[in-house]
Amino acid sequence: MRVIVIGGSAAGLSAALVLARAGHEVIVVERADLTPAADVEAAAGGALRATAPHIVAPHVVLATFREVLRERLPDVYAGLLAAGVVEAPLVTQMPPSLTDRATLVGDDRLPLLVTRRSTVDWVLGRAAATEPGVDVRYGVQVSGLLADPGDPPRVRGVRTDRGALTGDLVVDTTGRRSPTDRWLTAIGARPPRRTRADCGVAYYSRQFRLRPGPLPGHPTTRVVAGLDEFTIGLWGGDNATMQVALAPLAADRRFRAARDPRAFTAVLRTVALYASWLDVMDPITDVAVMGGLHNTLRRLVVDGRPIATGLHAVGDAVCTTNPTFGRGMSMMMRGVADLADTLAAHPDDLHAQALAMDRAVADHVAPWYADQAATDAGRLAALRHTVLGAPPPPPPPAIAGRITFGQLRSAAQVDPVAFRGMWRVMGMLGRPSDVYDDPALVARVREVLAAGPPAPVPQPTRSELETALSA
Ligand SMILES: Cc1cc2nc3c(=O)[nH]c(=O)nc-3n(C[C@H](O)[C@H](O)[C@H](O)COP(=O)(O)OP(=O)(O)OC[C@H]3O[C@@H](n4cnc5c(N)ncnc54)[C@H](O)[C@@H]3O)c2cc1C
Repeated sequence: MRVIVIGGSAAGLSAALVLARAGHEVIVVERADLTPAADVEAAAGGALRATAPHIVAPHVVLATFREVLRERLPDVYAGLLAAGVVEAPLVTQMPPSLTDRATLVGDDRLPLLVTRRSTVDWVLGRAAATEPGVDVRYGVQVSGLLADPGDPPRVRGVRTDRGALTGDLVVDTTGRRSPTDRWLTAIGARPPRRTRADCGVAYYSRQFRLRPGPLPGHPTTRVVAGLDEFTIGLWGGDNATMQVALAPLAADRRFRAARDPRAFTAVLRTVALYASWLDVMDPITDVAVMGGLHNTLRRLVVDGRPIATGLHAVGDAVCTTNPTFGRGMSMMMRGVADLADTLAAHPDDLHAQALAMDRAVADHVAPWYADQAATDAGRLAALRHTVLGAPPPPPPPAIAGRITFGQLRSAAQVDPVAFRGMWRVMGMLGRPSDVYDDPALVARVREVLAAGPPAPVPQPTRSELETALSA
């Protein structure tokens, strides 16, 4: 089949590689000029673009991405490691309070890939550039869909600022700001089913390079802590880089000062763990700011009927979730695999393809969207109470036989089995309910928490925080 992929970022390039290797002819159309730079550092230096500001934000790549990549694109996985991406075994993520560090069955599925996002895109871009069957056209903007009218319309290609392109299938990988709904309306399609849940945070982030010498922890450390007034995070990166972020409420105007590197650094220094890392690394970028972060889910089958045929979507064009949980790339890679499997199973039946892709979203995406929406609702209510004086949140409903992510995360600070459960949920292995409803794990987490909650992360008082923000 001739497949036109709209968008040449992580989802578009991954889909192009997997589909080309399944025998399809793929054209990728990307509006930005993302021609791969000479090396990873040049790629990082040129990564900031207004249309995709998340590319310079901290990223970590979790279990599902790693697992599917190794299975479907093993050379890209090897290329990531060759480019300086580090595979971090689970033991490197264990907090000091977790004293039982022995390896358990299943740990081999849970390593993280520690990297800057620009490095992932650079490796994918180079692989796509040399892949027979993939034609990447940078600097070409899609402005609409070409379709045969009908209910549903049959998509046959795209309009671009360089003319029309026709194909057997179109794959939408236009990301979190996807313009595709407008294009669907223009061809007479019913609107997709959109669900949205507040994630409510803004990201202030910066990249650093480690100096040679002793470090306060493992260079592949990823520590994200939900403090009373903001979330703070540190992520290892490729090639001795570290990535740091503050994620306050988007409505918390005090944090606008954190655009200034002095205030950003001063806030980090209010938390001992992060202060100790600042002493061993130097900034290599400015502070990047990103707001407008939401949990969103978009379904192309509504009331059991496809809204269009000949059109599929993968990546953020399907679902976005709270970035502090780092699941976007895993959802994207799972979606790429689902797309390839769907086309293999139903090569000549567009209707069956649409239904199969929607079933894959129902199985592999929607449960994680719902889980994130529930976790964020609790966290946001607590932040809004503390920061904005909103009414206190009600206690989370106790559901018999089930634990929440918050309970799991608390128990994971001290219990090795809860720790694995948390990383299975983080890495999207199976479904959330496989962990939250597992009777043995539920009993164990309750027992751990009944023995006393783990010590909270020491954090700044309000006055210390506000002094730092005025630095
Ligand atoms: C702050 C932040 C931090 C994150 N951290 C993590 C993390 O730690 N781990 C993780 O797994 N995920 C993380 N994510 C999520 C991850 O970045 C996304 O899931 C991922 O970028 C999705 O890739 P994509 O290719 O679907 O979309 P995008 O990367 O947004 O790419 C969409 C592409 O489509 C192109 N495009 C759009 N419109 C057109 C058009 N009309 N014509 C041609 N081209 C077009 C754009 O130029 C762009 O290149 C984070 C997200 C954010 C916002």
